[in-house]
Amino acid sequence: MTSVPPGDAIVRAREAILATIADAAARSDRPPDAVEIVAVSKTVEADRVRAAVAAGFRAFGENRVQERQAKAAALGDLHAEWHLVGPLQSNKARKAIELFDVIESVDSLELAERLDRLAPEARPGGQLRVLLQVNVDDDPAKSGFVPATLERQLEPLLGLPNVLVEGLMTVGRQVETPEHARPTFVALRDLRERLRGRDSRLGPALSMGMTEDYRVAVEEGATIVRVGRAIFGERPAGR
Ligand SMILES: *Cc1c(COP(=O)(O)O)cnc(C)c1O
Repeated sequence: MTSVPPGDAIVRAREAILATIADAAARSDRPPDAVEIVAVSKTVEADRVRAAVAAGFRAFGENRVQERQAKAAALGDLHAEWHLVGPLQSNKARKAIELFDVIESVDSLELAERLDRLAPEARPGGQLRVLLQVNVDDDPAKSGFVPATLERQLEPLLGLPNVLVEGLMTVGRQVETPEHARPTFVALRDLRERLRGRDSRLGPALSMGMTEDYRVAVEEGATIVRVGRAIFGERPAGR
């Protein structure tokens, strides 16, 4: 009997996800490489993150600054791009800039302004890449800009010199079937079109879709999908 190396499941998962993305991208008339996978590694140990890099994943997502900090210590200079996908408290903004390449969860003008002030010192050389998180469903359980507020604050947000706004992000509400998530994804894409029509400094990225619904998100134009459980398996309850 030979034991299966832990990385094998991750290799197979990646192949399955790439196939699903290729299919869904074709249905939206886009090449498969128009979609980036952010492997969400919250609760996943450093060794399995290394296995995921070996399997070909290049970008990882964490939702807590502290967990990223612990993993950074364990992983050393592992070559990967890190995305913050969870809410950021202002007192952790500096640490977040140091530890993440992209902050996907910018949800207020105040936070964006703080990042803009801290970025030159915390990460010299170049703008800090961010996405604006939008609560397109107006779901009280979710953080993110209310669309009307974002429309009002668009100019000051895009005028911040040290922050590069690459696009929009949303966390869909819990739904019964992937199909039920489609209106959320359409709403985020429509909002991007409207806002870019007003101010083309807003980048085109759309981060939307997770394990349950990334196929539908790609069909509706996602350029980033954030996938955790389909790669690493189930997480402990509550995470
Ligand atoms: C956990 C998480 C994901 C990944 O969810 P899965 O269902 O494991 O794919 C994506 N985005 C955010 C913001 C998350 O917190």
